[in-house]
Amino acid sequence: GKFVFNFKEGSAAMKNLLGGKGANLAEMMRIGLPVPPGFTVTTEACSRYFKEGEKIPEDIVGEIFAHLSELEETMGKKLGSRENPLLVSVRSGAPVSMPGMMDTILNLGLNDESVEGLYESTGNRRFAFDCYRRFIQMFSNVVLGVEHDKFERIIESVKRKRKAEYDTELDDRDWEEVIQHYKDLILKETRSEFPQDPRKQLMMAVEAVFRSWNNQRAIIYRRINKIPDDLGTAVNVQSMVFGNMGNDSGTGVAFTRNPSTGEKHFYGEFLLNAQGEDVVAGIRTPKNIEELKELMPEVYEQLINVSNLLERHYKDMQDIEFTVEKGKLYLLQTRNGKRTAQAAVKIAVDMAKEGLITKEEALMRVSPEQVASLLHSRIDPSAKVEIIAKGLPASPGAAWGQVVFSPDEAENLGHQGIKVILVRTETTPDDIHGIVAAQGVLTSRGGMTSHAAVVARGMGKPCVCGCDSISIDYANEEFKAGGITVKKGEVISIDGSTGNVILGKVKMIDPVLSEEFKELLGWADEIRKLSVRTNADTPKDAEVARNFGAEGIGLCRTEHMFMDQKRLPYVQEMIMAETADEREKALFVIQNFQEEDFEGIFRAMEGLPVTIRLLDPPLHEFLPKEEELVEEINELKQKGEKELLRKKQEVLKRVRSLKEFNPMLGLRGCRLGIVYPEIYDMQIRAIFNAACRLTKKGIKVLPEVEIPLVSNVNELKKLTERVHEIAKKIMEEEGIKVDYKVGTMLELPRACLIADELARYAEFFSFGTNDLTQTTYGLSRDDAEAKFLPYYISNKILNEDPFIVLDRDGVGTLMKIAVEKGRKVNREILIGICGEHGGEPNSIEFCHEIGLDYVSCSPFRVPVARLAAAHAVL
Ligand code: ADP
Ligand code: MG
Ligand code: MG
Repeated sequence: GKFVFNFKEGSAAMKNLLGGKGANLAEMMRIGLPVPPGFTVTTEACSRYFKEGEKIPEDIVGEIFAHLSELEETMGKKLGSRENPLLVSVRSGAPVSMPGMMDTILNLGLNDESVEGLYESTGNRRFAFDCYRRFIQMFSNVVLGVEHDKFERIIESVKRKRKAEYDTELDDRDWEEVIQHYKDLILKETRSEFPQDPRKQLMMAVEAVFRSWNNQRAIIYRRINKIPDDLGTAVNVQSMVFGNMGNDSGTGVAFTRNPSTGEKHFYGEFLLNAQGEDVVAGIRTPKNIEELKELMPEVYEQLINVSNLLERHYKDMQDIEFTVEKGKLYLLQTRNGKRTAQAAVKIAVDMAKEGLITKEEALMRVSPEQVASLLHSRIDPSAKVEIIAKGLPASPGAAWGQVVFSPDEAENLGHQGIKVILVRTETTPDDIHGIVAAQGVLTSRGGMTSHAAVVARGMGKPCVCGCDSISIDYANEEFKAGGITVKKGEVISIDGSTGNVILGKVKMIDPVLSEEFKELLGWADEIRKLSVRTNADTPKDAEVARNFGAEGIGLCRTEHMFMDQKRLPYVQEMIMAETADEREKALFVIQNFQEEDFEGIFRAMEGLPVTIRLLDPPLHEFLPKEEELVEEINELKQKGEKELLRKKQEVLKRVRSLKEFNPMLGLRGCRLGIVYPEIYDMQIRAIFNAACRLTKKGIKVLPEVEIPLVSNVNELKKLTERVHEIAKKIMEEEGIKVDYKVGTMLELPRACLIADELARYAEFFSFGTNDLTQTTYGLSRDDAEAKFLPYYISNKILNEDPFIVLDRDGVGTLMKIAVEKGRKVNREILIGICGEHGGEPNSIEFCHEIGLDYVSCSPFRVPVARLAAAHAVL
């Protein structure tokens, strides 16, 4: 095998073998750019290092030294020699960019002898000793593990002695003194002398790079980013060029376009008379690259040319590292530059228009998650912030407000127009009103799929969850974060895109749907096969979604309309009614409300289909909780309020009679519609009354009446017949024809398995994958996420939370069966998905593959789904 490659032998295509850095250095050399010569020890060598007991195998050591000799010859210099010393950098470089691995070592090859040689060959003693101390410092830090601070402290003490403010004020003798202290420090810390043999230095450095592949930071980074552990890292050994040889030298970083805004202009920073790490370390504040135009016009011109060349070559925005040695430009790295979501969109669209890439490529350059982050207000990137804690970035966007700990209080203040952040250890469905009223949610417990996270994402509200570094004290209405105590009413900001919790109010910027963004989504629309609908229960949500490009409503839940504070008393009356007459009366009031609701939604979705699901949850959800009632009754008994007491006791009786062991699998969905036909009848009347009224006004409505939780064909038969019957009657009375459909939600495994039977009655199917996942797995979502799902995922029993990413093997198989069986009976049947998976890119891809007609998701996910549906085609 061959385990070491000269830069001259490589190319960009060899990324897996040479790592990103090595492959691109080779590529730049190949296209004639000035790259200091060197060689790359491959990722395969790294794998062998680990396989053979963390030792670099003899044959590879041989290859490395052979390439070193070659390099010495090319450069006309020798590693460690006093006459004409060769210095090299040792740089790690994995196939995918990976922070957290070993840092670069510069100036390797220096020792007590060669430092004199460096002085003699450059005539600059200060420079030579500055290089030497930098080398000792970096090598000792990254290879020998001596703390960085200990070196800095030595420099500080020498500076103090010299009354110097900047490093640049120290002269050669000062650096010699620093070096002596460094050597003493190393002897003390490692019990051995700093290695003087340059070949030993080189091999130790190569080994340290290999080792760093398996350090804790790198392992965690790989886990989070799903990078395989067996890739390994390459090591680049490169002859040094010097940016610290005076004011005709320097070093810098440049981007071919602005990585923050995406604007097409050369952008970057540089430092005069400095070596690479100075720019990053922030020791001195770098200058804007524009200034280089004045200082070194020729170099600047050359950089612009290189920038254009590299961008055309790689067809993407490049992040370039360069060094200027005595007026000569060298390139030290290029890679596809990291960018903000906003920049990603602009750059992709601009490049497509410039003809550099195709529209399809442009679409692939932007991830659905980047689109998601563009739809929320964000913290002004230039704002100064005090971060007091960090949790999980559960729902993107940023918000500020007064800290409140109770959902009721959040609601009260919210109604007064006061901005609040709801802070809880965790949230439950009882807290929804508080979440609705708050600007954002912060929890100290719970993961990315916790209640708070899911609800907040659905509402497009910022949320930071699982922030275990804060401790909440409900009794005293305060929380502690590190040394800081935040009391109720104090203002904090949260950033749901980063997980940061920030003290005080931070400057926000509104989401701007740039022209480029709209254009890109337009291209996505041209390509995608899936249509994109939204889940919306209110006219306002419907309108938001329509502005984001929704092509209809895939799920309108009617129970939210029942929960409204104004209506709940009537709903309870309806449930409590003892005579048909009483029930009819209550239903009549509710029907009027429902008609209003439907009218609003039909109007907002004029001309587009609206799927309305008939009542789904069990009735007890609309009644007070048993414990609360018992408590109230006890109080009333003491007060002796007979009348009210009797009423409450009735309610309690009803609550107890409605109580179920397993409400999720109990009397709900179409089962309710069968047992209590009045409720569904009322809803159907409301739908068609509203539809007829609007149709008369010339507004086109396309209702789709959806029967939930069907598992048996007779349920569907009976209820669809009822819908047709009522629809017919109302349409005849009104003398109006409404284009409507009746269909069912597929959310039980049995329904999927008998989809052919169901297709005889259903004109559409919509997969309710939240329940379908629960019933296929036989687990309850809330219990699973609270009790064992996180454990399953961290122990790799499950790779992914099936409530976030659709389980293709199980749930997906049922979906495939249903699609096939349904279409066999009714080729025209419309099939979609309305679970939360409808807004998740991986699941959307699956829906495309199995031939669904549409996906439906929350309003803020609509643009995400449009892009993801296009990605599914590409
Ligand atoms: P990172 O992966 O952290 O960016 P690099 O290997 O790119 O680390 O090295 C960081 C910096 O060190 C480079 O940007 C460059 O300025 C400097 N550097 C690396 N190799 C050399 C070299 N051969 N000559 C001069 N400077 C170098
Ligand atoms: Mg670099
Ligand atoms: Mg359901």
